[in-house]
Amino acid sequence: MIHIKTPEEIEEFKVAGSLSKAVLRRAGRMVRPGVTTREIDQVVESFIRLHGAVPGFKGLYGFPASICASVNEEIVHGIPSERMLVEGDILSIDTGATAGGWVGDNAWTFFVGTPSPEARALCEVTLDCLKAGIEQAVPGNHIGDIGHAVQTLAERNGFGVVREYVGHGVGRVMHEDPNVPNFGKKGRGVKLQVGMVIAIEPMITLGTFKNHTLANGWTVVTNDGKPAAHYENTVAITKDGPVILTQDAEGPWCSLQGGE
Ligand code: MG
Repeated sequence: MIHIKTPEEIEEFKVAGSLSKAVLRRAGRMVRPGVTTREIDQVVESFIRLHGAVPGFKGLYGFPASICASVNEEIVHGIPSERMLVEGDILSIDTGATAGGWVGDNAWTFFVGTPSPEARALCEVTLDCLKAGIEQAVPGNHIGDIGHAVQTLAERNGFGVVREYVGHGVGRVMHEDPNVPNFGKKGRGVKLQVGMVIAIEPMITLGTFKNHTLANGWTVVTNDGKPAAHYENTVAITKDGPVILTQDAEGPWCSLQGGE
């Protein structure tokens, strides 16, 4: 069932959205060689709670942390650990906060120092895929238009589109209907209506999009060990077009770089 939000509810939602973007920025400012993903998670959890909000991910389906931290070949759902970031890594952080009863959800792939040219290109294209998907989030379009835009751009650049993990409706809980795949055909799927709020989140791979889950039951990695990138915003569909809810005073994007 798709929950349609009123204009007043979307205004309320912006509080959770802007905090979620601030959380992602706070996390990103810590990204540098020598930092562990657990240290980032601990700072993020404190940051969220200091703002009177609740981590959106901690405890969700039993996930143990406030961020998903996925390094290099890890696509999504990486568990923060003692793993120390090293020069040249890329780190995808997916995080969000529940505030005022609404859930914000956003993700960004940060550079740890200077990534390889291939990893940099992957990140730049994946961010462009997110932007292309958001452009399609207008009333009267279909879910398939979003996936088609993402898939076309990714594959034109020779990259892979993960099939098993997709975007989603978002509201008072993290995952609502409908699913928002990063692949699809124009004009197919659920018709987009004013008041829908969706998380658009391309997960794009340098090599194969085929993947598997590690023995910890969470971390999804590429089968060929090549890197993956992941960018996400929570977006409201309004009569005036897409409105990105996960934005703060600095806007809806982070820097591609990590580091303070
Ligand atoms: Mg999401």
